[in-house]
Amino acid sequence: MWRSYANPMTSDTRRVWLTTLGCAKNQVDSDKLSAVLADAGYEVADSPDDADVVMVNTCAFIEAAREESVDTIIELENAKRDDAKLVVLGCMAQRFGVEVEEAFPTADAVLGLDRYGELVGTLDRLTNWEPIRLLHSPMDILYEVRRPTLTTPYAYVKVAEGCDKPCTFCAIPLIRGKQRSRPPVNIRQEVEELAADGAREIVLVAQDLAAYGRDIDAPGGIEDLLRFVSDIDGVRWFRLLYLYPREIRPALIAEMTSNPRIAPYFDLSLQHASRHLLRAMKRPGDGDRFLELIGDIRSGNPQAATRSSFIVGFPGETEADVEELAEFLEAAGLDWAGFFPYSAEEGTPAVDLPGRLPNDVVGERLRYLQSLQEEITAERNAAMVGRTLEVLVDGVEDGRPYGRSYREAPEIDGVIEFDHGKQGDLVDVRIDASYGSELAGTVVE
Ligand code: SF4
Repeated sequence: MWRSYANPMTSDTRRVWLTTLGCAKNQVDSDKLSAVLADAGYEVADSPDDADVVMVNTCAFIEAAREESVDTIIELENAKRDDAKLVVLGCMAQRFGVEVEEAFPTADAVLGLDRYGELVGTLDRLTNWEPIRLLHSPMDILYEVRRPTLTTPYAYVKVAEGCDKPCTFCAIPLIRGKQRSRPPVNIRQEVEELAADGAREIVLVAQDLAAYGRDIDAPGGIEDLLRFVSDIDGVRWFRLLYLYPREIRPALIAEMTSNPRIAPYFDLSLQHASRHLLRAMKRPGDGDRFLELIGDIRSGNPQAATRSSFIVGFPGETEADVEELAEFLEAAGLDWAGFFPYSAEEGTPAVDLPGRLPNDVVGERLRYLQSLQEEITAERNAAMVGRTLEVLVDGVEDGRPYGRSYREAPEIDGVIEFDHGKQGDLVDVRIDASYGSELAGTVVE
């Protein structure tokens, strides 16, 4: 996504272009950097070749994300004017800063996450065409509350950064460090600003969201935070993304199934159902335990929506493990699920595990599990026909409004189409038909 900034108060014409890759957490960082740059007087660039500085906020989560980041840097290098500057930000800059500098000697600055405090000063110097020497600054974008004007009726809010868990496949702790939670007051301030700007849905994100508050003086954890923010005017519902299964305590289920301002939507980060693979991942639980957890959630609210993500082809995964996962999916009846091929990440313990699988085997298993889940999702959606759901209108395409209920997270799940409404409206929609992952309905007064 291209973004740029304007400051009508200055005649200086420093123009910036930013491409953001990766997850919602990276998008939040870009939004905050955008606001900081706008305050510093940087203007909107209409295209990369219109910018004095082109920037890319990279992702380095897995190999495919790194490849996309490299491709994007090359695209921007080619698209920018010869005299424009190139700045690389984000996870790849953080984890592979030296390699990025070596691979892209034309990059004028490479700033990892802990150097965002240097961004404005760096751009100031670059746009004055002076050589730069970067200095460390204590500014931390995590606590920043400024954001650019919203273009959607939903917004992501990052409540913590980093992760303390030991999952053997995951590079996040290497990139983002130990968990650092934001103070509740700081989060509330950002939500209030977003609500005043028209946000009707706030999506709370963190690497290990349910562990929020453990590193600061917040003994009530995520449950207290939910109670603390859920009275903010204008926000219809809060949604929680990424819940580590062992952190889903009865108190959290109770809060999420009884607080009318919290979407009863459980994004369970399960990764597999096979016990021996989960142990090799250094993760808790197994298929039976996860079914119990889903049962507890549905006891709290039978209509609660569930999503999860799974790694396919982890070292040592057998055909029997895949069948175990397939049986789990059938029994769990998750509304949504994503499947990702195992990616061997340098520096993580799983890289040294025996039993790596060929790509074609992993691809076949992925297709099998994905098609099985597509059928389950279609069945879950078909069961919605006849129900009336409160829907937030995300937008209108080809004259047809579309939006989401509590069941659908933005950008990852399906959408609902209906007959009338405008962006930001909340409407009651009677579901008339389902088409795989999509629903269609009629607004009822
Ligand atoms: S809990 Fe999530 S972010 Fe943390 S190490 Fe495990 S997979 Fe990575």
